[in-house]
Amino acid sequence: MPSSSERSAANFLAGSYLDRRAELREDPYWLESARADAETLFLPAQGTALGVVGDPPTAAFIDHSHDLVRSSPDDSLVLLGWFRDRRCVLVQLDEHPMADRSRDDAFRFEELRPLAGTLGAEEAGLLAYARALAFWQRRHRHCGVCGSPTRPTRAGHVMTCRDPECAAEFFPRIDPAIIVLVSDGERALLGRQASWPEGRYSTIAGFVEPGESLEDAVAREVLEETGVRVVASDYHSSQPWPFPSSLMLGFMATAEPGAIARAGSELEDARWVTREDIASGDVVLPPPTSISHRLIANWFDAGSTVPLRTMRSRSWGATAPRGKAVSG
Ligand SMILES: [Zn+2]
Repeated sequence: MPSSSERSAANFLAGSYLDRRAELREDPYWLESARADAETLFLPAQGTALGVVGDPPTAAFIDHSHDLVRSSPDDSLVLLGWFRDRRCVLVQLDEHPMADRSRDDAFRFEELRPLAGTLGAEEAGLLAYARALAFWQRRHRHCGVCGSPTRPTRAGHVMTCRDPECAAEFFPRIDPAIIVLVSDGERALLGRQASWPEGRYSTIAGFVEPGESLEDAVAREVLEETGVRVVASDYHSSQPWPFPSSLMLGFMATAEPGAIARAGSELEDARWVTREDIASGDVVLPPPTSISHRLIANWFDAGSTVPLRTMRSRSWGATAPRGKAVSG
């Protein structure tokens, strides 16, 4: 099992890059303060695409004097928190009449997922958080109770029904998904989906269902997708995965001895993989920014004199994992 210090290292897209100061979402003057402060960092977004600049890209912050900020309606702004000691506000330009003009501007809008590995860790975390909130707001424009339109409240962190008789509140949605490295000691149980790059294998993952514990979900998903029974599982670490709204909960698990792997309906293949299969490049791993990679590395390093990270160049592809079970 990993030590507590190994587990406490933040996964990519997680960590203390942001001071959220959640209590200030209740401040009725947060918007005036943000708009008045020349130091405020405004992060433009169009849909779930976020403003970036340069190559390699960095977040395209604009300030309070920018036309797009000055002319944006209050409901399009979300208080993200304090980033590098400056207030940071998401500006959603979806229906902004000048949004098209920004394409001629100094920045461009790009989807985060292909960018994530090229952004610095702190900016990637901030943009992931912004993307999750933008996605959630766009899908909660109407009340699930009475069908009336909603409006953002509490600095954009709650969607509230506009009908005062109803006034139902909706909070950002997070979908828990387990992701698990199953081992029989010498081998790891990995699977691949048909849509993945050639040779790519990854850990088993799937959404937690209502009425399940995380441990129940680990055992069920592994059995459904590979036919292997898990006899024990332990929590490792977690990773926010805002594509669109998952929280990946990483586990290390032990399989019953001699279990044979077979692919279930969601996988093209499931197999037991040795450390030699990985070291030789026979199996292509997901990128190092993924929690799946970290779980595999954890298992690999426990039985190898050479750490997995020293084999970086040949063991994995460049793109993020595309688990259909945990993405949308
Ligand atoms: Zn309502």
